[in-house]
Amino acid sequence: MNLILLGAPGAGKGTQAELLTKQLNIPSISTGNMLREAIANGTDLGKQVKQYMDEGALVPDELILDIVAERVAQPDCANGFILDGVPRTLAQAEALEARGVKIDHVISIEVEDSAIEGRMTGRRVCSKCGASYHIVANPPKAEGICDLCGGELMIRKDDAPETVRKRLQVYHASTEVLKDFYGKLGRLRLVNGSQAIEDANKDILKAIEARV
Ligand code: ADP
Ligand code: ADP
Ligand code: ZN
Repeated sequence: MNLILLGAPGAGKGTQAELLTKQLNIPSISTGNMLREAIANGTDLGKQVKQYMDEGALVPDELILDIVAERVAQPDCANGFILDGVPRTLAQAEALEARGVKIDHVISIEVEDSAIEGRMTGRRVCSKCGASYHIVANPPKAEGICDLCGGELMIRKDDAPETVRKRLQVYHASTEVLKDFYGKLGRLRLVNGSQAIEDANKDILKAIEARV
């Protein structure tokens, strides 16, 4: 089962990907996490992408496609994978199709723009594994520490309100068209992302007809 999680920044893609990866026993692939790791490790890729990410702009398609194609070709993706935050442009979606990366369901997690800022100001992410928490809606068991790996939680620089506004504009201008693209292919499933995390999760499982 190959899935795409689509949705505005802060819609809950990472949070749901983490639940689904356990429930479906397939890896979740977050381009955002991969790029942040590249920056932290000071790789060439990291140097190329840092400025775009800091500004809340999209990283060029070519850079994204290479890392995704390489990742989905790994043996652990043989039974399926969850793409979190990719594709984000029509060109990326078309290139995945052209490269024969088969997608079964595209889940669009729907959240009003007005709810996003509060999510982002409360978001804390693990500096080691990328897991996402919220100080009110989804706090870690011990303050500042990742439940999954014990890593230190941090605030993402691009979660500052000005950058979040820019990222929302980018979502509406460049990513939202993917709903039409996958809708026409009959693969789009809409899920209400404004409800509690567990309820959104149940709706996703229903939408993909997964029994867990
Ligand atoms: P969020 O989950 O809050 O939407 P991500 O971690 O997915 O944020 O992405 C953070 C940043 O990484 C984006 O603003 C963009 O600069 C870059 N990025 C991640 N995935 C992609 C992609 N598929 N195409 C282009 N840029 C991307
Ligand atoms: P994305 O990957 O789409 O950018 P995240 O999964 O990181 O989004 O979620 C953004 C923030 O909102 C995080 O702080 C997360 O804990 C919180 N969050 C996710 N889903 C919900 C929800 N259904 N209700 C309230 N807060 C949520
Ligand atoms: Zn962690």
